[in-house]
Order: sequence, then structure tokens, then C-alpha cells
Amino acid sequence: MASLTTSFNTMSHNLYEAFEQQRRFSQSAAHELRTPLAVLKTKVELFRKKGCFGPADTLEFLDVTERQIDRLSALVADLLELTNMDAVPCNESVSLSPLLQGVAEELFPLAVQKEVHISVDVPCCTVIGSRALLERAFFNLLENAIKYNRPQGGVEIRAVCRKSQVDVSISDQGSGIPHDLREEIFEPFFRVDKSRSRQMGGAGLGLSLVRSVVALHHGRIRVEDAPGGGSLFVVSLPLAHTSS
Ligand code: ADP
Repeated sequence: MASLTTSFNTMSHNLYEAFEQQRRFSQSAAHELRTPLAVLKTKVELFRKKGCFGPADTLEFLDVTERQIDRLSALVADLLELTNMDAVPCNESVSLSPLLQGVAEELFPLAVQKEVHISVDVPCCTVIGSRALLERAFFNLLENAIKYNRPQGGVEIRAVCRKSQVDVSISDQGSGIPHDLREEIFEPFFRVDKSRSRQMGGAGLGLSLVRSVVALHHGRIRVEDAPGGGSLFVVSLPLAHTSS
């Protein structure tokens, strides 16, 4: 009877935690959606009240509207991706070297804009999973390494193949992540510096998406201090078995 009571209490506690997590997620999602909607509503009201508008007013109105719509679209796309991830097939052979090169090329314009230098050194290695999801996860990590870097800073993407796993590391020379926040940054909607991240267009869903993709691929992710200052994210993934 005592062990039954303990199991029951553990189960109720876990259920409570799951409901609480869901409640926090919905609350944060609603809050994030409400802000751009409120900005749009105010702008439309002001525009209507003003009555007559010159080309400069119209242009400013359209700019604000477009920015807020982009923000809402990105948020909805991230939310959909997070909730639909389990339905994505994860059985492709994915070669990491071209995938990471491709992600770096895609983010090259952002790196140029932020004056950040990227170097990629990844040997041939293959994992089993979803190419699209892995691309998305490494894109988020590299985008953050560029976004939160300093001007003239560097980003290094390296991979080391061990017996049955590959460790992909992405290091930057930015502000780094405080030790006590290294678990929280993977929680949905969490940002270390809210106003700075929001200015850069982030809703705080990027790293929780990365964590879910890594978990779906039976991998692990951790964050450490980079040797030259900044952050070092390490993603460990099981290597595909070779038949030889
Ligand atoms: P965001 O959309 O805000 O970038 P993420 O989930 O990708 O959201 O990241 C969560 C928070 O973790 C960011 O707001 C930022 O404060 C911090 N962060 C993520 N990557 C880095 C990094 N490479 N260097 C410093 N801080 C980072």
C-alpha cells in the first residue's frame, strides 16, 4: 500500500508539472502574440484618426505594419514547427559536412552585416535523421552565434567523430551565457536580455526548437564557455552505423 501511495503521488506530481509547463507555454505564447497585435492596432487607430496623410506617413505606417506581420509570421512558423516535429520522418542518411557548409553559406550575408567571420572544419560523417530538422537546428545555433557576437568576432564550427557519436561544436566570441542560465535558455520564450533579443527579432523559441530536434535524434546538447570568451554549444549525435 505504501509503494502504491508513493507511485500515485509521483504520478500526480508529474501530471501537475506537465499541466503547469503547458500553462506557462500557452501564457508566454499568448503574450508574444499580443505585443505585435497591440502595436498594429494602435498604428491603425492613429492612422485613421489623423485623416490626411502624406507619402512619408504612409511609408512609415507600412514599414511598422510589415515588421509586425513578419514577427507574427515567424512566431507562428516556430510554434507550428515545435508542435509538429514528431510527425517528421527521421530516417534519412545525412552527411553533416555539406549540411553545415550549406548552413554557413546561407548565413553568410548576416555574418557580413554583423562583421563576423565564420570558419567551418567538419570531417565526413553521417547521422540518421531528418535533414530539414537538422538544418533548422544548426541554422538556429549558427544564427545565434552571429547575432550575439561582437563586431569583428569569429564563429567556429567544428566536428569530432568518436566511436559511435559525433560532437559538433559551435563557438563564438560574444557575451557568453551566465552559468546559472544554461538550463533555462533551452526553455521556450526564455531570453537572457529580453529587449536586446526582441530587437533582433527573436521570440526565444530558437534554442527550445534545437533541443527538441536533438532529442528526436537521440542526441544531447550542452553549453560551455568558449576558450576565447563567448559561448560554446556542443551537439552530440549518434553516428550512422557502417556495415563494414
Ligand atoms: P532568440 O530568438 O531570443 O535568439 P533563442 O531560444 O535562440 O531565442 O535563445 C534564447 C536566449 O539565449 C537568447 O535570447 C539569448 O539571450 C541567449 N543566447 C542564445 N545563443 C546565444 C549565444 N551564442 N551567445 C549569447 N547568448 C545566447
